[in-house]
Amino acid sequence: MLYRARAFDTPDDPFDPATAGPGFRHDDDLGLLVSDDGVIRARGPFATVAAAHRDAAVIDLRAGLLLPGLVDTHVHFPQVRVIGALGMPLLEWLDRCALPEEQHLASPSYAATIAGEFVAGLVSAGTTTSLVFGSHFAPAVDALFAEAERYGLRMTSGLVVSDRMLPDPLLTTPQRAYDEALALASRWHGRERLRYAVTPRFSLSASDPVLAACRAVLDAVDGACFTSHVNENNAEVATVAGQFPDRAHYVDTYDHHALLGSFAVLAHNVHPTDPELAVMAARGTAVAYCPTSNAALGSGMFPLTRHLAAGVRVALGSDVGAGTGFSIFKEGLQAYFLQHLMGDEGMPLGAGHLLHLATAAGAAALGLGDTVGDLSEGKQFDALLLRPPPGTALDIGLRHADTPEAALGKVFALASDADVADVWVGGEQIASGGFVRPVTPRAPAGRRTPAG
Ligand SMILES: [Zn+2]
Repeated sequence: MLYRARAFDTPDDPFDPATAGPGFRHDDDLGLLVSDDGVIRARGPFATVAAAHRDAAVIDLRAGLLLPGLVDTHVHFPQVRVIGALGMPLLEWLDRCALPEEQHLASPSYAATIAGEFVAGLVSAGTTTSLVFGSHFAPAVDALFAEAERYGLRMTSGLVVSDRMLPDPLLTTPQRAYDEALALASRWHGRERLRYAVTPRFSLSASDPVLAACRAVLDAVDGACFTSHVNENNAEVATVAGQFPDRAHYVDTYDHHALLGSFAVLAHNVHPTDPELAVMAARGTAVAYCPTSNAALGSGMFPLTRHLAAGVRVALGSDVGAGTGFSIFKEGLQAYFLQHLMGDEGMPLGAGHLLHLATAAGAAALGLGDTVGDLSEGKQFDALLLRPPPGTALDIGLRHADTPEAALGKVFALASDADVADVWVGGEQIASGGFVRPVTPRAPAGRRTPAG
């Protein structure tokens, strides 16, 4: 297949002072040759690639704008129906909104319905790679993995574990946490594009024995990831300090159990101390920056400049359902707003920074930087085509943008799910014309949905 498109991506890190130019790569008439296994085999001006591969079928995408698939590094599977509950800080929002809904996933049929809604939400937003907070119920996590596999999504997720401070139905024991995680990982880890993530909810609700069980799962499952929450809200931070008097700080509650490394992503980190940033940098642990959630819950202003100065890797997360939707474009725009409002303490962000945070930085945070994140030769063809409906502000803006930078700025200012027309993962198209459907050949026998 030879794709012909106008395309943007960020193979070089625009936060690196050594990166010259606008911080992104733009091609007006790009040719991308994609082999049957979904790998980009050749890239260059369309005329050059077409001349070298005269037998390739050409798919002309010049009616839209091609971008790498978006990466969401923090999003909650059970919370799709609680998006939009505004006006509460974290702990009250958990009690009144998130945790009651999460208990409903004890029902496998309810969980399967939510899995369908959740995965469709990711695909509709153009999110092709994600690190997903699963459910406290193992059968619900099975339902999520099954649905992700049916679409061919690139997803890392796992059983959420806690043994205190949550409603009883959400609690487990260290032994059960270990056994259920191993069983889930044996079914899903490394299958298709799926990986397992060891996931204590946060150390506020996970005691030392549960965190030790999490380390045991990492030891038993080769290549598993780790994710949790940290330093989101001042009341949460104070509670954790009281629960772990022997730990140096919140980050140390995880680090004490050797849970941090380049395989780990911690969500939020709105209120880190410098020693915590130093530990995270030393371990290679990445942070999921969730700007709409931070604003919606009033959690605080994320210190992006301090993270980057300390050498901590950062990418974007939607944090559905405290975040206000699946769109990583919206998270990018909100990051731009909030960093701008922080004045001297904020990080000035251009369109190239936003695209990098939304794609390549996310892939790197999840250890997938060699596989996806941009449209370079050798990478998997994970991509989305933005094709705004005629007459919309984005359509008009893109047609009249006088520079590539202006066009990319309009994407982040204006793009929404409605503008994501086509989505590919590993060369397989999983949304077409804005219509989301599983890739038919991936549907396991007996679960195939009607084509269409
Ligand atoms: Zn979260």
